[in-house]
Amino acid sequence: VIKEKHRNNYKMFETSISENFKSMLTMESDLRKALQKEQFELHYQPQKNLITGEIVGMEALLRWNHPEKGYIPPLDFISLAERTGLIIDIGDWVMYEACRQNKLWQGGGYDPVIVSVNLSAKQFHQKDLVSKIQHILNETGLEPKYLELEITESMAMTNEKYILNTLQQLRELGVLVSIDDFGTGYSSLRYLSVFPVTKLKIDKTFMDDNQIQNKAIVKSIIHMSHSLNMKVIAEGVETEEQIAFLKEENCDEMQGYFLSKPLPPGKLVHLLSTG
Ligand code: C2E
Ligand code: MG
Ligand code: MG
Ligand code: MG
Repeated sequence: VIKEKHRNNYKMFETSISENFKSMLTMESDLRKALQKEQFELHYQPQKNLITGEIVGMEALLRWNHPEKGYIPPLDFISLAERTGLIIDIGDWVMYEACRQNKLWQGGGYDPVIVSVNLSAKQFHQKDLVSKIQHILNETGLEPKYLELEITESMAMTNEKYILNTLQQLRELGVLVSIDDFGTGYSSLRYLSVFPVTKLKIDKTFMDDNQIQNKAIVKSIIHMSHSLNMKVIAEGVETEEQIAFLKEENCDEMQGYFLSKPLPPGKLVHLLSTG
């Protein structure tokens, strides 16, 4: 009986592996076609200056509108896109689209904002990254100071010389660079002071008020950013209390559901300031 049971379990295990594998392959072939079928969309989440109250930035967040499965969140396909190399073409599309959209907002007579674009490791390590971005800025007519690239700690902290060089070229071009999800990865404080990064984004896990140490961590990140001449933004801000605390601690900006969920560009214009 026991043997029989094991055999059945094993069979179930086997089927579920092959089913997972099949669905992964389907997903991969769907992902390959998604770009040409125009199934990607960018939603944007506003970023607010805590002193002036103005919207100063919009983070572009990728959405895959799958014909059968509906909206697929980025965390469900970005790593597949990385593994297959598809992230390069997808990332190019994201960059172009975000710059184009930002230029469109500017043409609508709103005060200019900075659009920020998430970069994956593979994208960041492209040899022609800087010239590609230069080309996209030329094509869309967006001034470099209105584009920010978000990288992660782990991307910034490996192969220092190469990274430093790329970051310097990007800064020379005039685009901004932020470190996303700051505090969740490894980062060396020495590199942080050497790398020409313009902003730290405090990871949303530190907004959890139930963790008593979080306030101390947030305070320290804010003070450190300012000491290193960087701006600092809190991610994942959901409550009035969190905003009061961030203001008290002189955090520059905030982003989170309290202000708005990520939305299609047309649904955000009412938040943009004029004059
Ligand atoms: P991220 O760059 O850290 O983006 C912030 C994520 O937190 C977004 O999830 C956003 O919807 C979510 N969020 C914003 N405010 C709140 C809040 O108040 N509370 C909570 N609980 N969550 C909040 P999303 O859109 O699912 O994106 C997840 C991640 O996928 C992003 O994290 C980013 O790492 C990656 N990603 C998104 N778009 C792209 C892209 O175009 N390229 C690359 N390489 N990665 C992307
Ligand atoms: Mg981000
Ligand atoms: Mg983040
Ligand atoms: Mg992230």
